[in-house]
Amino acid sequence: MIKPKLLHNYLQSDEAYSKQYDDIVKKETDWWEEQMNHHALYPTDEDLKKTREAIEKNHKEKPITDDDIKDAHHRLFTLGAIATKMGIKKTWEGKRVKTIAEWKKDARQTNKRILGAIPFDNIKCKKCNILLNYRWSMLHEETAKNISKVLFFYYCPNECGNNQLIFADGTPWISESDNTCAVCKGERNSTVTKDNAGNSYIIFECKKCGSRQVEKYELQAR
Ligand SMILES: [Zn+2]
Ligand SMILES: [Zn+2]
Repeated sequence: MIKPKLLHNYLQSDEAYSKQYDDIVKKETDWWEEQMNHHALYPTDEDLKKTREAIEKNHKEKPITDDDIKDAHHRLFTLGAIATKMGIKKTWEGKRVKTIAEWKKDARQTNKRILGAIPFDNIKCKKCNILLNYRWSMLHEETAKNISKVLFFYYCPNECGNNQLIFADGTPWISESDNTCAVCKGERNSTVTKDNAGNSYIIFECKKCGSRQVEKYELQAR
């Protein structure tokens, strides 16, 4: 049985997580500060109307000019920016320990999942017909398609350049260069099927000329 090996350890150091968290907090507080400062400098008519109403409540005797209102608004929002920034920071700091603990838990689970998939020991080189060497495992993720699969990497000991990527479910990785029609070089669709013996077949169908090609991948059923 081949012992799985991680391409990357998903679990990072505490310092790395702390730095990652700092970056998120900074991005968030900077964004709010920018919004508030923008409001301070470019008040809308509605903003100024509200500020005027608030001030006039307390200063009934002397007339207040538009510039006075603008200055008051600017002061208010500049102070508001500082208060908001501090508030946001405080909220994020409150979640720091818990969030980092969750990240670490997820990373450990990912490592465990990758190491739980036992690599195939019978992948042959298509050129040399000898067994390929297993090198490492990784997680292949396509969030948009909701795909998350363990992927094994193999290389030929003859150094013929024939490396192979095989998913833990036995289906091969099909690269873009592998995926052109042998007849017209057009782009192909691929589907993978398995027979009762556990062999995988990839059926390619050309989108351009419609010709079909089949490739067999011999894998022992586990
Ligand atoms: Zn080879
Ligand atoms: Zn074709």
